[in-house]
Amino acid sequence: MTNVVENLSRVRKRIERACSASGRDPREITLLAVSKTKPMEMVRQAFAAGQLDFGENYLQDATSKVQALPHARWHFIGQIQSNKTRSIAADFDWVHSLASEKIARRLNSQRESAIPINVLLQINVSSDPAKAGIEVERASDLLDKVKDMQNLKPRGLMTITENTEDTDELRGYFAKLRKLLEDLNATHDLEDFDQLSMGMTADLEPAITEGATIVRIGTAIFGQRKKKEQQ
Ligand SMILES: *Cc1c(COP(=O)(O)O)cnc(C)c1O
Repeated sequence: MTNVVENLSRVRKRIERACSASGRDPREITLLAVSKTKPMEMVRQAFAAGQLDFGENYLQDATSKVQALPHARWHFIGQIQSNKTRSIAADFDWVHSLASEKIARRLNSQRESAIPINVLLQINVSSDPAKAGIEVERASDLLDKVKDMQNLKPRGLMTITENTEDTDELRGYFAKLRKLLEDLNATHDLEDFDQLSMGMTADLEPAITEGATIVRIGTAIFGQRKKKEQQ
């Protein structure tokens, strides 16, 4: 049996240790519990233990969870198909995986709440053709479009790194995302464009060293996912 509450406190300790090693304040970091494919019961246990932010990738499995726990903060972190934007615009507070103007326009026009969706641009920092996200060089253009959309509030950048244990390589990717955030702030007049969603179970420490403000943790909280469900 996975002990969600114990796992959560272990992950919080990992975050604290990584913060003290790099002179950061753990309060700067949001722990996003990635509950994709996991049962509602586990989400409830985490919520009862004080976990507020949850991340989901698959809409068909997320909608009922969001409706069952509307007071949690829900983040959509998976690839977005056009026919899914209406539900995402209705149910989610954050979208981490924005990577095209077309999807941005749909989310913007389909958002009915007066509160904008917080959006992060997903960047393919390693230029891996197998990875989702836009190239570093295209971020500025997409941001220009998104910043004029009333129902979207650009909050920062997100990346998924290569599956490697080479810490220096990982730090290089994370540093690239941080540098891009700084460059975009210098060239665009934006408020609160300050979030770096980077770091997962395997690489949360180097992500924090390089400035992560949101870490997205699934396995270390909820246990392994079944192979076919893994993304
Ligand atoms: C599944 C997933 C995670 C969580 O990954 P773990 O390695 O289980 O912590 C984080 N971010 C995204 C985008 C994911 O799809």
